[in-house]
Amino acid sequence: MRRLLLGVDLGGTNTRAAVVDAATGEVVAAHKVAHAERTPLAVVRTVAEAVRAAAGAAGVSPGSIGTAGVGVAGQVLGATGTVLNAPNLGWREVPFGDLLAAELGVRVRVVNDLSAAAWGERSFGAARGVDDALLFFVGSGVGLGLILGGRLHEGAGGVAAEVGHIKVTPRGVVPRKCGCGEWGCLEAYAGGMNLAARVRDDVAEGKATAVLAAAGDASRIGAAAVEQAYQAGDPYARELWAEVGELLGTTMANLVTLLNPARLVLGGGVLLGCPNLERISRAHLGDRASRSARKALAVVHAGLTDDGGVVGAALLGGGASAPALTVN
Ligand SMILES: [Zn+2]
Repeated sequence: MRRLLLGVDLGGTNTRAAVVDAATGEVVAAHKVAHAERTPLAVVRTVAEAVRAAAGAAGVSPGSIGTAGVGVAGQVLGATGTVLNAPNLGWREVPFGDLLAAELGVRVRVVNDLSAAAWGERSFGAARGVDDALLFFVGSGVGLGLILGGRLHEGAGGVAAEVGHIKVTPRGVVPRKCGCGEWGCLEAYAGGMNLAARVRDDVAEGKATAVLAAAGDASRIGAAAVEQAYQAGDPYARELWAEVGELLGTTMANLVTLLNPARLVLGGGVLLGCPNLERISRAHLGDRASRSARKALAVVHAGLTDDGGVVGAALLGGGASAPALTVN
């Protein structure tokens, strides 16, 4: 007999819905749909379509499961289901949970995508069985999922763990504007989208020529091309990784000193796809985290990669006391 749950990973480009086995974390069936448009009502219809298709492939209906969890790349106001700010979707204050619940006829829980992924890692991945764990993610953005005392920590308003938006402008560095509208955020320096934009600006000024050569053309400039140029010994790439690695590693160290986790789970294409950047970041982490907090710490890579978000969202959406479908 299996207990089934519904999880959704809502990104800026695609929605992926999955039916998840609550006991094993196995993705029983999944369906991915690209967003044709990003208005809230259009996205509600797209998400509902993905959910119905995934449920259909698993031989169940959303109504028979009764709950769904959704991870969104953005700030979510805790249990209200309101998406405060989702830059990839261009949303401000959208009552997405209520809209999707009305469309699907099930209870909906909306969480930040990294909170969902952290819960997935804690349940079935690299932080399994650990009560104090951080998921530190560097992809197109920079984010964090916080598991403290065995619970997902969302903060008073549901917007805790926004590590991408702590202010880190190094001395002598020009403050850069972040996608959130503020200046000097960690994500403005270390997030993949902002990194690429910065390198393209430098290319336009005649710098970063080795990165441009590694990328092939300006539209393909990104962290992978910087990593490639670094590997070839390019001074620009070395300088950039020294700066970004110091910012990331110092931030990780401060989180470890503050929160004393047993596991620091690293994820995201920029961090895991750029071994030199990861190495530099980890060196600063090792130097700067307090010795006492380092003793309990293991630094590991995310175990669930693509599935962490839907699995964690499904489990959070189901809740400990929520009714869940059991099938033979
Ligand atoms: Zn920001």
